[in-house]
Amino acid sequence: LHAALSAAPRSRRAQSALTQLRGVLEEELEAIRGAGTWKSERVITSRQGPRIHVDGVSGGILNFCANNYLGLSSHPEVIQAGLQALEEFGAGLSSTRFICGTQSIHKDLEAKIARFHQREDAILYPSCFDANAGLFEALLTPQDAVLSDELNHASIIDGIRLCKAHKYRYHHLDMADLEAKLQEAQKHRLRLVATDGAFSMDGDIAPLREICHLASRYDALVFVDECHATGFLGATGRGTDELLGVTDQVTIINSTLGKALGGASGGYTTGPEPLVSLLRQRSRPYLFSNSLPPAVVGCASKALDLLMESNAIVQTMAAKTQRFRSKMEAAGFTILGANHPICPVMLGDARLASCMADDMLKRGIFVIGFSYPVVPKGKARIRVQISAVHSEEDIDRCVEAFVEVGRLHGALP
Ligand code: PLP
Repeated sequence: LHAALSAAPRSRRAQSALTQLRGVLEEELEAIRGAGTWKSERVITSRQGPRIHVDGVSGGILNFCANNYLGLSSHPEVIQAGLQALEEFGAGLSSTRFICGTQSIHKDLEAKIARFHQREDAILYPSCFDANAGLFEALLTPQDAVLSDELNHASIIDGIRLCKAHKYRYHHLDMADLEAKLQEAQKHRLRLVATDGAFSMDGDIAPLREICHLASRYDALVFVDECHATGFLGATGRGTDELLGVTDQVTIINSTLGKALGGASGGYTTGPEPLVSLLRQRSRPYLFSNSLPPAVVGCASKALDLLMESNAIVQTMAAKTQRFRSKMEAAGFTILGANHPICPVMLGDARLASCMADDMLKRGIFVIGFSYPVVPKGKARIRVQISAVHSEEDIDRCVEAFVEVGRLHGALP
């Protein structure tokens, strides 16, 4: 009886705290809806690929919004390698790497990644978000400085927030500003310039030649996030450093296995051996999160094998990107970026971007409109992503639909 009596007010209090929480959450959610920035998720009922099925849409649709740049997410050999690793090494490790979560396939994949990037060593993480979250804090101290492009990915921003180094933010791709910040940062022990190799909203590419030149002049290290470059930029798909001829000048690369390299999940850091050793000792997302599942390791490993055997897929993707960009520009659209498979079709107005994306879907083409706050006000766009496995007919169908929808909405004459 005593227990029942004393439980009653406690449960009423808990009830009122929950009611209060619901109120707070509803208010937040309403604010997101009111700002027009609500993100809804379409449910795909098939494998990832150029042609997919989406819940509520009849028939197959052409998918132009995945980071599946090389089409390896559903490549038969990649899937087979995943199945084989699942069979041989099990569903998962039930452990972090340093306790009992390191299998031979993890070590093999790390060695393969280092070889692919021509670096000394590599370390796997559950995601590139984790690789970015775990790098700066482990490497930099209050004696050091980090200089970051203002449009770097959220995970770099969060990773830098976690470290105690002095923080400098330079204007996007602005080398004069970076130089000024490097001069200011001369007083610190280490200087690390951090940039995305390719920026995912604009499809623009960091001027790595100039960045490396400044870094060498001001005695700084260079870190590049290659999530939107690994596997397909450069003659053999090594990334932005290969594209711009600075492979030996970029000190640290972080990248993902969740885009071009099979698309499952996982990320990594590759660079000097002592850095990788330090990360294994100190990097929190590595130390305190589970080991990558064998199937994921098997898929990524096969994706790298395919890339190291031949650069045919890389070249196919570049040709398809060129086809889309030139046809769209000939039709009168403005496409941002530098020959990257991320092709932002600039429309300006947020409502126009969203209505056009809806009308594209009605014509069987899946593309996404982006507007403020994801991109600056007045710079709304539809982001198209080309994959090596789109056929030329797929590309042409997409362009035709854009022309039709663009005319319908007055975006084209
Ligand atoms: N860095 C960049 C530039 C990205 O675009 C992304 C993914 O969107 C990430 C990091 C995070 O990668 P992951 O999905 O492996 O966590």
